[in-house]
Amino acid sequence: MPKDLANATVNGLMETENRKWDEDILVDLFNDRDRDLIKQIPLSSQYTGKDNWYWIFDGNGDFTVRSTYRQIHGEQTREDRKFWMRLWGIKLPGKMLNFIWRACINVLPTKTALANKNVEVVKACSWCHVCNEDAVHALITCCFAREMWNLVGLQRVVPVSDRYNVLQILKDAFNSSTTEQCVQIGLMCWSLWIRRNTWIWDRKAMSTFGVNAMALNLFQDWQRAQEDGPGSKKRPQL
Ligand SMILES: [Zn+2]
Repeated sequence: MPKDLANATVNGLMETENRKWDEDILVDLFNDRDRDLIKQIPLSSQYTGKDNWYWIFDGNGDFTVRSTYRQIHGEQTREDRKFWMRLWGIKLPGKMLNFIWRACINVLPTKTALANKNVEVVKACSWCHVCNEDAVHALITCCFAREMWNLVGLQRVVPVSDRYNVLQILKDAFNSSTTEQCVQIGLMCWSLWIRRNTWIWDRKAMSTFGVNAMALNLFQDWQRAQEDGPGSKKRPQL
């Protein structure tokens, strides 16, 4: 860039009276690609005398987390909304619900997710070594996960599925489940992840019975703490 343009501002590229990009200046300063990109930026028809920040994904131009979330994840269908409402209504510790939410929006630090972010890891599941580990594998299709779902009698509710993500699988599962089963599904997903981390980081192998007992103990402790109220000294740290 020429030195005398170092402090130039964007309005120098516009025909301010006509509110359009100045074609001659664009030709002088930019290559074809950049020129085309600049010309795709719409200019406001109302000149207010000063620049303002305008968030394009909100009608008022105001930045909101909600509009950002919608932009990233797309508009929710009625079916999606029903699922999320049901999930957030489940009587489980917030930590577990938060985990399920992260699994559903596919942000768990699985080996595949880490490899996709250029972290040097072997993608294969550390337990079965048969498949690459993603969230569906860790929570649904790994042989250990299948044993767990069988043990708690939910193998048909949470089947080995050709659905490509956890959200799809859990939406189907919740649709065909009672509230108690939804609680159990959430509990199992969280326990499978804890057990996976225990194996990867501490090399401690838990049995399916051990995982189930851990899940039930934590859940019952949490339930008791809920009954005793928020001031209870017995409230466990979940
Ligand atoms: Zn596996």
